[in-house]
Amino acid sequence: MIKYKLICKDCNLSFDSWFASSYEYEKLKKKKFLNCHNCNSKKIEKTLMAPKILNKTEKIDEKKIKFYQINKKIKEYQKFIKKNFKYVGKNFAYEARSIHYDKKKEEKRIYGTASNDEIKELKEEGIETELIPWVEDKNN
Ligand SMILES: [Zn+2]
Repeated sequence: MIKYKLICKDCNLSFDSWFASSYEYEKLKKKKFLNCHNCNSKKIEKTLMAPKILNKTEKIDEKKIKFYQINKKIKEYQKFIKKNFKYVGKNFAYEARSIHYDKKKEEKRIYGTASNDEIKELKEEGIETELIPWVEDKNN
C-alpha cells in the first residue's frame, strides 16, 4: 500500500489517499476516477510529499508509542511516590521492619530497593510490600 497526499486544483483541498501501488494511482487518474470530496473536481494532483509506504517499520513505531505511553504512566506514578513517600534506598527492609515492629513510630510511607530474598522475608514476617515497575530517569 502506498499513501499519497492529493490536492484538488480547483478548491485547494488536500487529502490523503491509499493506493495499491503508484501504478494504480496513475491508472485511476487516467480513467478520471479520482475526484475531490469537496467540489467533485477531477483536477486532482499528487503533492510533492514523499510517498508513505506501509511496512514493518510502521508496526515497530506502534510498539514504540505503546512503550512510551507505559513509560509515561510509570513516571507519573513515580512522581507521586517521590512526593508522598520517603526514599530509604537499600535500607528498605530495615526501615520496613522498624516501622512494623515499633508501634510507637508513626506510620511512614517509604520506598526503596530490596532484594528478592528480603521481600520474601518481609512477607513471611507479615510485612506487606508492593512491587512497582521503576524507570530510571536518565535526566536525574
Ligand atoms: Zn475540490
